[in-house]
Amino acid sequence: MQFSDLPLDHRLGKALEIKGFTEATEIQAQAIPYALMGKDLIASSKTGSGKTLAFLLPAVQRVLTKQPLSRKDPRVLILAPTRELAKQVFFQLKWLIAKHQLKAALILGGENFNDQVKALRHYPQFVVGTAGRIADHLAGKSLYLNGLEMLIMDEADRMLDLGFTEQLKQINAAADHRKRQSMMFSATLDNAALHYLTQSMLKAPHRISIGISSAEHKDIQQRFFLADNVTHKERLLAHMINEKDHRQVIVFTATRADTERLSSLLKEQGLYSIALSGDLSQGQRNNIMSEFGRGQQHILVTTDIASRGLDLLNVSLVVNFDLPKLADEYVHRVGRTGRAGNKGEAVSFVGPKDWASYLSIKSFLQQEVSFNEIEGLEAKFKGLRPPKKAKAPVKKAPGKAANNSKAGSGANNQGPDRVKPMQGTEVGDRPMKRKPRQVIQDDDNEE
Ligand code: ADP
Ligand code: MG
Repeated sequence: MQFSDLPLDHRLGKALEIKGFTEATEIQAQAIPYALMGKDLIASSKTGSGKTLAFLLPAVQRVLTKQPLSRKDPRVLILAPTRELAKQVFFQLKWLIAKHQLKAALILGGENFNDQVKALRHYPQFVVGTAGRIADHLAGKSLYLNGLEMLIMDEADRMLDLGFTEQLKQINAAADHRKRQSMMFSATLDNAALHYLTQSMLKAPHRISIGISSAEHKDIQQRFFLADNVTHKERLLAHMINEKDHRQVIVFTATRADTERLSSLLKEQGLYSIALSGDLSQGQRNNIMSEFGRGQQHILVTTDIASRGLDLLNVSLVVNFDLPKLADEYVHRVGRTGRAGNKGEAVSFVGPKDWASYLSIKSFLQQEVSFNEIEGLEAKFKGLRPPKKAKAPVKKAPGKAANNSKAGSGANNQGPDRVKPMQGTEVGDRPMKRKPRQVIQDDDNEE
């Protein structure tokens, strides 16, 4: 698609022309129209695919063409995980606004605070920076975000990796999110922590995902098993692990408490198992991952904390003890196996409380999904009927509808209160605000 086919202001078209950019990249072609409509956006595409202009063009267009909410507060705030990235974005922005009476400030950690205070007193319409220093200016009352119209988070998941969750929350709280538009861009979307952030910071975001192929999953055999309750799941788990000689296994649970409990249970069965959860310190987590990575442990029981980024070539089985709430998390979890041409297996247990997740995963996968059974471990639970007013008929709801309330009320079942922490606790509530930043500081963090 040509830039001229997009509803861009002629001034921006001109700037692109001068630069010799005529053809929009795919992410630009898809994201820009939504961004210009004022919709919240969560967009993902490979590195080097032009995400920066995909958010800068709509941001500049907004400032050029719309009345400001405030003449003092910045209208657009762009956050990036590292100084280098923030700088790069800032210079692209400078180039776009060069011919206009617009101001931009670059606010980075490690630089003189007072100089930044001075820069902010000139009321720039754009602020580009790193989350920690921006939060410092909010605390120091040298920056207010009441008039913010657009919040952009570049490589949002990376910011979470670096431990900026608290700062992002502070920034979110300082900028009225009923008035503002929010956009997240990242190379990866399937990050449990990012989903949490998305839910608290974005309003019904439109999702765009380009070039994230699920082709690798052709190497993964995926099976689903119905389960009555937690005890039943535990028996299924033991069966799966012993079914064949698996090199290494990852078991995903919905809650942190279950990681410890299940891991102990497996140890009692004579297996080398270890639990990883956000309750642990970063040091402990590093140790666990290195033990598992070296093959000293056979089974890793974890939450979605480990669903992203881990490249563990010996994992031949992934078990979803509980289904993740979001379907793309499922894809990412099972993506821990079947890597680099290896074959892998994924099994998922579907109890009454997993049913809604199961339905969304099923439609997300866009392939026929059927249930397997193991002799002697068959479930009484056969699936739930849709709520009365639901329009879409559920394919299979055999048996009695009474299954629903009966199976769902057992003390061992995962109620909503058990599923909920999965979204928030791994990042939001753990007492480790500065640690991960220190750990990664040497490499690429600026704070
Ligand atoms: P990403 O953020 O997706 O990693 P960038 O926004 O950094 O990618 O863009 C990568 C490079 O592509 C930059 O040098 C940018 O100037 C260039 N670029 C962006 N959009 C276009 C386009 N439509 N046509 C040609 N080059 C582009
Ligand atoms: Mg980028």
